[in-house]
Amino acid sequence: MLTQAPRGTRDIFGAEMKEWHKVEGIIREICENSGIEEIRTPIFEHTELFLRGVGETTDIVNKEMYTFNDKGDRSITLRPEGTAGIARAYIEHGMHNMPQPIKLYYLSSPIFRYEKAQAGRQRQFHQFGVEMLGSFSPAQDAEAISVASRLIETLGVKDIELRLNSLGCPECRSVYNKRLREFIGENIEHLCPTCKDRYEKNPLRVLDCKEEKCQSIIKDAPSVLDCLDEECTAHFEKVQEILTEMGIKFTVDPKIVRGLDYYTRTVFEFVTNSIGAQGTVCGGGRYDKLIEECGGQVTGAVGFGLGMERLLLTLEAQNGKFCDEPYKDIYIGAIGDRGFVKSQAVAYNLRKEGFKAECDTVGRSVKAQMKYANKIGAKYSVILGDREIDEDSVSLKNMETGDVQEIKLSEIAKYIAK
Ligand code: ATP
Ligand code: MG
Repeated sequence: MLTQAPRGTRDIFGAEMKEWHKVEGIIREICENSGIEEIRTPIFEHTELFLRGVGETTDIVNKEMYTFNDKGDRSITLRPEGTAGIARAYIEHGMHNMPQPIKLYYLSSPIFRYEKAQAGRQRQFHQFGVEMLGSFSPAQDAEAISVASRLIETLGVKDIELRLNSLGCPECRSVYNKRLREFIGENIEHLCPTCKDRYEKNPLRVLDCKEEKCQSIIKDAPSVLDCLDEECTAHFEKVQEILTEMGIKFTVDPKIVRGLDYYTRTVFEFVTNSIGAQGTVCGGGRYDKLIEECGGQVTGAVGFGLGMERLLLTLEAQNGKFCDEPYKDIYIGAIGDRGFVKSQAVAYNLRKEGFKAECDTVGRSVKAQMKYANKIGAKYSVILGDREIDEDSVSLKNMETGDVQEIKLSEIAKYIAK
């Protein structure tokens, strides 16, 4: 117990951490360039927000939330998704009074869901997400989708498909729910126990079931697209028209419903076959009722959440194991106590000048220090002892070529900058 992280959590470090930083850097660039600003909301919120926002018939709320009473006896929940907190912030800070749309992103935000831990499914994972609030236009849907698509393209992710659907407005949805319930009713005995339950409460959820026996029935279910009214159809067509004009490839898949209750009209997923069964890397859609549901004004909004772990798993599966190429500008070795003390200050000052400098903080022998310098990929090295300090002269060694040059101690920066 003591030496093992809780089930469904993991440590990120080493070469993998570097890969995260790289991906995060690209995400920030794409977002800033698209006029999307970062927001950081609390990791926990009042439980009520998720009950309202995410929906009481969803798996997340029913089975997956980390909910507890705090010492003040308030019900608190660790965020199981990113959108509800942002909807709350939008209302709380009167963002509807600012020029619309409000375009926000969150990056590597920890998300908590009590799920069966397996490859690509953790209990604490991390999401990058984008929310665009304040527009009902299909252009906003296309803009949101284009951000995810551009990230995937920039990272060179292969074998990934954008699947698009529309769930229509609540009126269309109720027409569809009726049809779907009839269809499911005829096949109910073949469904899994959870789906039997969903049939009553929220038949749409059945389409999202991952059980094979349910999937085999669902494939013949009526299509939601046949139930869309004129306006919702036109909206969906416009989204497709804009994406096509942008050169973004997609397939329309009427079985995509997403796991959250708040979606209206457009929903989408980016799915890959590279990482096994948990292949949905990114999912999102329009949620025109959420702000209102949470106590704000009627506000059109669209967004997505992208699982960082699944994205990185995909990159690793396609490009091979992440490898760390160590690199340091210089290693400042030491002999004797004066050299040891001096080397600390020299390394410190070089770092202040922007160089990646390392020195001995462990107490290695000179031979071991040079071995270490090699291991960390130092391009140059010096060794400081009494003679070097007294004569203000060091032998700067180029670790690649083996060339040695006598220079002044104060001139290290000048030489390694070349
Ligand atoms: P799934 O169908 O795989 O359960 P979901 O519909 O619950 O996914 P969302 O709530 O839309 O997923 O979350 C967006 C993204 O977050 C997913 O596409 C996925 O990449 C990632 N994600 C969701 N749940 C987990 C998890 N338990 N562990 C790791 N990543 C996850
Ligand atoms: Mg899920």
